[in-house]
Amino acid sequence: MRKPIIAGNWKMNNTASEGVALVKQIAPLVKEANCDVVVCVPAIDIPAVSEALKGTNIALGAENVHFAEKGAFTGEISAAMLLEYGVKYVIIGHSERRQYFGETDETVNKRTLTALKAGLTPIVCIGESLEERETGETEAVLFEQIKVGLKDIEDIKEVVIAYEPVWAIGTGKTATAEQANETIAFIRKTIGELFCPKCAEKVRIQYGGSMNAGNCKELMAMEEIDGGLIGGASLKAPDFAAIVNFDK
Ligand code: PEP
Repeated sequence: MRKPIIAGNWKMNNTASEGVALVKQIAPLVKEANCDVVVCVPAIDIPAVSEALKGTNIALGAENVHFAEKGAFTGEISAAMLLEYGVKYVIIGHSERRQYFGETDETVNKRTLTALKAGLTPIVCIGESLEERETGETEAVLFEQIKVGLKDIEDIKEVVIAYEPVWAIGTGKTATAEQANETIAFIRKTIGELFCPKCAEKVRIQYGGSMNAGNCKELMAMEEIDGGLIGGASLKAPDFAAIVNFDK
């Protein structure tokens, strides 16, 4: 009922020409995909990668968006700037932005509302740290991230949520399929309580954290997991394609 969505997060890797070369390798490998396929790329790569994606089934995503329409925000990128190049998705609140760039649930909320208003699909990242998991705070942390980060959203099914346990990102340590499924079920239940149970059934919730060609089938077989946000493995065409083609 929910169409899976596999999105690559290139982070600060790949110059524009490297990005174009990578999508040229990926495109033929994923053309029969049964899921939505997205590459989220550095802002400066967007024009060239947008051109290279024409005629493919891969959608373009950004890694961040500012919440203001325009103005004195040196170094920032607006939704209108992204839309002009055919960007459809935008990652918001990635743990690296929370950790290194002062992103909070409040700014996540502002960016998400702005993205939705502009017609971009936000991929909102939430997740607990290792310490929070070990001290039994996972559910409380996620509840707060959802309550504040997704406040005032009218149509919650327009948002994609990426559950990314911080301890599993870029560490090679994956949550077990059962752990990921159980936590995503909690996220869905919370959305049901804060929004409505019917809408919660329609929201796509990805898992992210060291997902790769070897573990994607097991993760994607879980009932609650609707896709993946892929960091490291999205930088190699065969690996990313193997994840996209998890059902083949
Ligand atoms: C990410 O950065 O969103 C991510 C999941 O990274 P990795 O797949 O490398 O753990």
